[in-house]
Amino acid sequence: MATTRTLDYWTQRAAEITFDGRAWIDGAARDAASGETFPCHSPIDRRHLADVAACDAADIDLAVAAARRAFDEGVWRRKSPAQRKKVLQRFADLLEQNAEELALTDTLNMGKPISDALGIDARATPNCFRWTAEAIDKVYDEIAPTGDDELGLVTREPVGVVGAIVPWNFPMIMASWKLAPALAMGNSVVLKPSEKSPLSALKLVRLAEEAGLPSGVFNVVPGFGHTAGKALALHNDVDTLVFTGSTGVAKQLMIYAGESNMKRVWTEAGGKSPNIVFADAPDLEEAAKAAASAIFFNMGEVCTAGSRLLVEDSIADAFMEQVRAAVKTWRPGNPLDPNTNIGPIVDEGQLKRVLDYIDKGKREGARLTAGGNRVTDLGDGYYVEPTVFEDVQPEMSICKEEIFGPVLSVVRFKQEEDAVRIANDSIYGLAAALWTSNLSRAHRVARALRAGSVWVNQYDGGDMTAPFGGYKQSGNGRDKSLHAFDKYSEVKATWIKL
Ligand code: NAD
Repeated sequence: MATTRTLDYWTQRAAEITFDGRAWIDGAARDAASGETFPCHSPIDRRHLADVAACDAADIDLAVAAARRAFDEGVWRRKSPAQRKKVLQRFADLLEQNAEELALTDTLNMGKPISDALGIDARATPNCFRWTAEAIDKVYDEIAPTGDDELGLVTREPVGVVGAIVPWNFPMIMASWKLAPALAMGNSVVLKPSEKSPLSALKLVRLAEEAGLPSGVFNVVPGFGHTAGKALALHNDVDTLVFTGSTGVAKQLMIYAGESNMKRVWTEAGGKSPNIVFADAPDLEEAAKAAASAIFFNMGEVCTAGSRLLVEDSIADAFMEQVRAAVKTWRPGNPLDPNTNIGPIVDEGQLKRVLDYIDKGKREGARLTAGGNRVTDLGDGYYVEPTVFEDVQPEMSICKEEIFGPVLSVVRFKQEEDAVRIANDSIYGLAAALWTSNLSRAHRVARALRAGSVWVNQYDGGDMTAPFGGYKQSGNGRDKSLHAFDKYSEVKATWIKL
């Protein structure tokens, strides 16, 4: 679809698009109880997009009360799975019909290229709802193996009120990974989008209502982490908190749960994923291209970004030449241009973080072989050149810490054991990739890698059937696939004496 649209088309639509920054609580648009708003600016050119309700604890209270009432009254959870499926499929249809508007919203709000917003985010979001909705009238509960005089039932029930807190890098996809299984199971949800990208969630919830989701079942409360987010995490009437974001905030949420009602906490957190290229990779040119897209796609603002490239010493010189050639195909530009593959960084704070890490890399003695600067000839936007550091040592901060920007750290290794040791030497364990044509090595290394997703001879494979989540400080639990239902259900054992 994107290729048939031009920069002029998107520029025109961007000039006409409107946003409603009010929260959505109990089936109605609402200003924050305090009357406060915060401005949303575009990272493309700092244009003012909307004033958004700056919700806090008072609004969270209202939303949680509406969610609880809807749950207790059973307006959604008592519908049959087939009925819930129908509503969620209608919602998916509406998401598809509004794909351009939703994609444009995210591009303007957080800077991702329109081709990606439309081709990836605006497709994956309805697909997530459709896939999950399709599953719910096909999943059975269990009957335990008992003696003749008893009947043991093992059933799944919705948990109740789900609080969902999500980040800005894939605003719609991250929300849908939580919303789809939560709603499919019959729960009520209060979603707190990131203050950096709240606008698509506010459009999404209005479409859900149009699809027939009863009022109070799905509420969106925009606001800051330390106000609205904290209030949701501390709320005594929230049964389960699901989160995607940084490891630091994930840890804080676990503390909030302990300080309040011991709500269940499921987190998808940070990453520093290794991409290991062995000398026997089946196609080094393809591996080099994938190494570049693994870190530069979505400006490197990806939890699974292949930010550590581990290359076998014997091929490193020739392979890095291919990588540097691939890097040149990633050119920062106006994300409204369908030919742009790398847009601006989300905001000034994140831009500073990325530039500070680039400085740190230089000071730590890594060799800068591509990029390294802010792009200044694209106006006021927050653009950074795709950046590559070679001769990186595993203990350097650019190799240990999540930068969340277009900065690649390249480390050389000699033996397979060294590659595995360096790859696993991280507090994170979200994803990892390896490239080899040796089948035994592929399995051996895949097993040894401590990561929730492992890709062989590709980067970032998988679809809705693949569970997604982290080992170690990358989080707990899994999004996507049938495993996602575990977060949104309690398991009940009912034992009947016959
Ligand atoms: P963040 O942790 O700063 O914010 C995420 C959300 O938490 C936002 O909505 C924010 O308002 C909220 N928040 C912040 N402080 C809070 C508090 N004290 N209480 C409650 N809520 C609070 O993360 P971000 O900058 O939005 O996103 C980038 C991070 O997200 C990266 O670390 C990235 O790796 C991670 N991420 C992980 C995955 C995954 O699936 N594992 C996917 C995407 C992004």
